Amino acid sequence: MSTSTATLMDGTALARRTVEETAARAAEVTRRTGVTPCLATVLVGADPASVTYVKMKQNRCAKAGIRSRHVELPAETTTEELVAAITALSEDPEVHGILLQHPVGPHIDERAAFEAIAPEKDVDGVTMASFAAMGFGLPGFVSCTPGGIMRLLDAYDVDPSGKRAVVVGRSAILGKPAGLLLLGRDATVTYCHSRTKDLSSVIREADILVAAVGKPNFIKGEDIKPGAVVIDAGYNPGNIGDVDFASAAERASLITPVPGGVGPMTIAVLLAQTVEGAERQLGL
Ligand code: NAP
Repeated sequence: MSTSTATLMDGTALARRTVEETAARAAEVTRRTGVTPCLATVLVGADPASVTYVKMKQNRCAKAGIRSRHVELPAETTTEELVAAITALSEDPEVHGILLQHPVGPHIDERAAFEAIAPEKDVDGVTMASFAAMGFGLPGFVSCTPGGIMRLLDAYDVDPSGKRAVVVGRSAILGKPAGLLLLGRDATVTYCHSRTKDLSSVIREADILVAAVGKPNFIKGEDIKPGAVVIDAGYNPGNIGDVDFASAAERASLITPVPGGVGPMTIAVLLAQTVEGAERQLGL
C-alpha cells in the first residue's frame, strides 16, 4: 500500500491546455494573416524510433492547426546536402519553425546541421544562438524539455527564487539548459553528473530536484528532502523514470509521474514555440 503524500504534477493535462491555447493562437494567426503557421520536420534515414517521433509531432501539429512540411532524406545524405536542405527551409517564408530529428547518423556533422537553422525558426531550441540567448536572459526559443519543466513549475505555483535547485545531468539539450533556466528565475543551482562525489548528500539539499540522467529508478526516496519538488525528466525503456517514484512520492510535496509528467510537455512547447515564431515572423 502506498503512503504517498505528494501531489502529482499532471503533465498530460497541462500539455493539453497548452496545445489548446496554442491552437487558438494558430487560428488567430491564420485569421489575421491568411497564413497558417508551419513546422518543417527533417528526417535523415529511417530509424524506426525517429520515424515514430516525427509522425507524432506531425499529428500533434495537425490537431493544433499548424501545417507541417516533411523533408525526408536518405541515410547516406552528406553534411553538405543536409545543411543545404535546412538552409532552404530557413530561407523559405512559408516555414516558421524547423525541427531536425536527431540522431542524424555518425557521418554527419550534427552541429553544422543544427546551425543551418535560422535562429528565428529554431523552435526546438538547438542552435548556439538560442542557447546563448537563454544564457543572457534574452528572448528566444528554449530547448523544449527544459521549457516544459519551467511551465510545469509555473502551473503548480513553484517559484524557484531563492530555492536550492539540484539538476542531475548536464546534457546540452536537457540538464544544462534546465539549470540555466532555473538560475534565470533566481534559484541557487547545483549541477551533478557522472563525476559528482557523494551525489546523495547534494540531492538531499534540493528544494527542487530535476532528474535528467537516463538511468531507471536511479534516485531513491531516502535522498529526497521532505517537501521537495521532484521533476523526473528521465524516460527509460519500459516507461520508467530516473526517480524511484513510490519512495520519492512519500517525501516530495510535488512530483511528476513517468509517463505523464515532463514527457507530454516537450511536444506542447515545440508547438507553442512554432506559433510564437509564426507570430513574430508575420509581424503580429
Ligand atoms: P545524456 O545526454 O545521456 O546525459 C545524461 C547525464 O546524466 C550526463 O550529464 C551524465 O553525466 C549524467 N549521469 C550519468 N550517470 C550518472 C551518475 N551515475 N550520476 C550522476 N550523473 C550521471 O541524456 P539526456 O539526453 O540528457 O537524457 C536524460 C534522460 O532524459 C533520458 O532518460 C532521456 O530519455 C530523458 N529525456 C526525456 C525527454 C522528454 O521529452 N521527456 C527529452 C530528452 C531526454 P556526464 O555528463 O558526466 O556523462
